[in-house]
Amino acid sequence: MQYVSTRGSAPALDFEGVTLAGLASDGGLYLPVEWPQFSPDEIRSMRGQPYWQVAVTVMRPFIGDSLSEAELIAVCKKVYGTKFAHAAIAPLVQLDQQHWLLELFHGPTLAFKDVALQLLGALFEIFLERRNERLTIVGATSGDTGSAAIHAVAGRTRTEIFMLHPKGRVSDVQRRQMTTVRAPNVHNLAIEGSFDDAQAHVKRMFTDADVTGVLNLGAVNSINWARLMAQVVYYFTSALQFGAPDRRVSYSVPTGNFGDVFAGYVAARMGLPIERLIVATNVNDILHRALSSGDYSAGGVTPTITPSMDIQVSSNFERLLYDAGGRDGAALAQQMRSFEATKAMQLTNRQAEGAAALFASCAVSQIETSRAVQQAYQASQQIIDPHTAVGLGAAHALAAAGALDPAVPVVTLATAHPAKFPDAVERAIGVRPSLPARVGDLFGREESYVDLAGDYAATRDYVLEHAAATGAA
Ligand SMILES: *Cc1c(COP(=O)(O)O)cnc(C)c1O
Repeated sequence: MQYVSTRGSAPALDFEGVTLAGLASDGGLYLPVEWPQFSPDEIRSMRGQPYWQVAVTVMRPFIGDSLSEAELIAVCKKVYGTKFAHAAIAPLVQLDQQHWLLELFHGPTLAFKDVALQLLGALFEIFLERRNERLTIVGATSGDTGSAAIHAVAGRTRTEIFMLHPKGRVSDVQRRQMTTVRAPNVHNLAIEGSFDDAQAHVKRMFTDADVTGVLNLGAVNSINWARLMAQVVYYFTSALQFGAPDRRVSYSVPTGNFGDVFAGYVAARMGLPIERLIVATNVNDILHRALSSGDYSAGGVTPTITPSMDIQVSSNFERLLYDAGGRDGAALAQQMRSFEATKAMQLTNRQAEGAAALFASCAVSQIETSRAVQQAYQASQQIIDPHTAVGLGAAHALAAAGALDPAVPVVTLATAHPAKFPDAVERAIGVRPSLPARVGDLFGREESYVDLAGDYAATRDYVLEHAAATGAA
């Protein structure tokens, strides 16, 4: 399978190439040249298979020659056979007649990002071994990505990771999930300033010749195609349990960077009969405005009890604009350049109509989010995290408005374990969720991180001084 950039001018790459490259060199994001198709019979034949086996079937066409059949089976069995605390990996829980939860938080750091990052960590190692190279991963996190990425690469020999977090602005659980991992290839950097400042340092490092001249840099954010591909799998495993391809399912997805819900779009393009994909946002609602009125304009970020969805712009939305808009890279490059200059744009008619065929959207306020936590607890005895509650609140709101077919089940993606956000949950229902035993003594372990000033040079110099790796091993 070959991959092309949404902005049309970067060279096409194979799966191994896009996995190691992250962002395309023209500033675009990689997508496969065409969507693999599964016939109804092929989908039916996946029923009853374990998660790892569905993963092999769904990901096979995307990976092409980059992994042999034996390598793909081995990596899927290893990741989805040993790294998750639930044998189903992504179990369904019924809430009522129409609503279900898809629990995606059974990985090591209690958020859905583990499902893809555990695989990505293993893929990096395979490809780097083959090339005899090393990779220095530099990333910025407002919480969940950092811990999931660190757990995915800790202790590996060909990757090392520098993870920047805004000092004092991530939760205690989130910070400890990063800073208590003691491995020589893990470096935690607490940066003065906001998440956006940390993110800006990371972006600058990727274009700084002093850094790229000596280090082979890699990215783990959801612009990396391999992460989206891994997330397509749980749309298949869950829809199969409802009787796909012979019965349709809708999904409500708590959305920030548009990665998780775009994976649902990919599943639909491959032939999985998805009725609706609900893009659920908090008050940072750029995506809801874009999908409901075509107005894609960025404002400031309002901090909420769902920090992993507090975004200004959603990088992966560009993938939808490209695919739904007719795959015209040159036109999209121009549209994105003008957006980057003015922070605002209108969707074209073709983009808006292409999106409207599958997506619905809803913005959920903080009060509605707390109310959805309460409702799940009182009506169904389920303690849910606030991000999940945004998804469930959106599903309820659209169902009440008559926008959803009552005969079609609605699955809300449960993106984090409630114990990751205990304060917001306790405020809503008066019960403090406890951490599952598998995360161990998180609050008893020693933390390790360095404090750095907010300027770019401090971060760059630290990385250059402490990086063990050079591009060639
Ligand atoms: C990252 C994250 C999201 C947002 O997912 P995107 O793929 O960025 O849209 C939602 N909920 C939780 C708990 C997350 O960690």
